[in-house]
Amino acid sequence: MTIEDNSLQTFDDFGLHKDILKGVHEAGFRVPSPIQQESIPYIMKGMDVIARAQTGTGKTAAFGLPALHFSRDVSGVNVLIIAPTRELASQVSDELYRLGRFAGIRTVAVYGGQSISRQVDLIGRGAQVVTATPGRLLDHLKSNRLKDKFSPSIVVLDEADEMLDMGFIDDIEAIFGYIPEERQTLLFSATLPKEIRSLAQKILKQPVSIDVIPKEIATPTDILHRYYVIEEREREEALVRLIDTDAPQKALIFCRTKKETDLLSTTLISRGYVAKALHGDMEQSQRNEVMDSFKKGVIDLLIATDVAARGLDITNITHVINFHIPFTPESYVHRIGRTGRAGKKGTAITLVTPLEFKELSRIKHASGVTLDYMEVPTIHQAKKHFKSELLKKLENQPVHEEAVEIMSEFTEEYDVMEVAYKAFSMLLDQRRIDGPNRIGLSSRKVTKLLYNSKKQSHSGRKHSYKPGKKYKRR
Ligand code: ADP
Ligand code: MG
Repeated sequence: MTIEDNSLQTFDDFGLHKDILKGVHEAGFRVPSPIQQESIPYIMKGMDVIARAQTGTGKTAAFGLPALHFSRDVSGVNVLIIAPTRELASQVSDELYRLGRFAGIRTVAVYGGQSISRQVDLIGRGAQVVTATPGRLLDHLKSNRLKDKFSPSIVVLDEADEMLDMGFIDDIEAIFGYIPEERQTLLFSATLPKEIRSLAQKILKQPVSIDVIPKEIATPTDILHRYYVIEEREREEALVRLIDTDAPQKALIFCRTKKETDLLSTTLISRGYVAKALHGDMEQSQRNEVMDSFKKGVIDLLIATDVAARGLDITNITHVINFHIPFTPESYVHRIGRTGRAGKKGTAITLVTPLEFKELSRIKHASGVTLDYMEVPTIHQAKKHFKSELLKKLENQPVHEEAVEIMSEFTEEYDVMEVAYKAFSMLLDQRRIDGPNRIGLSSRKVTKLLYNSKKQSHSGRKHSYKPGKKYKRR
């Protein structure tokens, strides 16, 4: 379904209050994104909406701006947003605070691990917009702690597919048992599996459905997709080599399990990289800390599971690295959506073993992205690259006064060259380029394997590739 007037191009055309528009302006949004263009007009009319659009396309502001608009002169909770994780809830709450602050709108995020009385207190003190995770919200509702403080007229289910993944559907239904029938209900999601559609039938009334076709955004042209074919046992070496040669400013590395994120971060740290793991089992304060230091660039490698990282909005991620190929094309698209945001260039790197060619080709077909096959650089190439990077850094390095002082002190005792050699050695010790010379399968072998796997998938025969003993299929 499309909006009647296709000429709607600016935020000014939606009929939003000027104080809300000021927030939009201050946030630096200039043009509404497709999902915003299509859904805001209906939401402004008070209609229920079920909307699907890819991660990173501005769904928060799509429901948030009208919701803020309608909350201006309301005292008490007017909007309830249900989000699947604590991170997403606080992210949404922050974004809405940022957009609504000129209209004096108060927001509060409600999730587990925070003081219950403080939350109730904040809600009671007149926050108009409450963003909550299902568990904690249901807890509040069941215990009747919110009493008459709580009758939202707009309810939003955000990232609904993720709620399904996390097993929250029953909780959601229970929550709606406590919410007034008289309300506007909005459902936003990156995908709409049938369970979500049937939930929508129960909670939405004659909704308008809006579908921003993934293609438009799923294949941002600013992302370069590369894959490397390796043996199972080479994963870590391949990753390290690629980090050394690509020198990512900010890389998000995806693992399949929590345990793997821990193992990998330990390995990387021990090899001199500034890395941290992010997963669902960590304490909230710990997670915030990790997220913060990644945002600020204190750490440049964040190792995460899908659940921990999906939907998180971190800008300036230069690289998304799939340490393991994701299980589904959707997951691939979700993951790489973390880079190349807001018109910035990004790189998506995927490590693949021959036994994972099937997943690789599924991803290629379903997402329509072109993944370029590349060979892992040899140690020789990595060292050469490291040298040229070092040279660049040296050229741009300003000379500190203190360094001049130290140098003149040292050269009373040592030869200048000797000091220079030692200084370079210290630099090299900080980040040793090592590992095996060759990593991964030769391009010749890969071509052959790919050819065979295509042939066999047509004839329906089994894969002929015999992995080494160490290989274990997930
Ligand atoms: P989604 O929920 O669809 O994954 P978000 O709502 O988190 O996406 O938005 C992704 C990023 O885009 C956020 O940083 C948000 O501030 C920004 N954004 C949203 N709308 C616009 C816009 N119209 N112009 C520029 N940036 C936008
Ligand atoms: Mg979102």
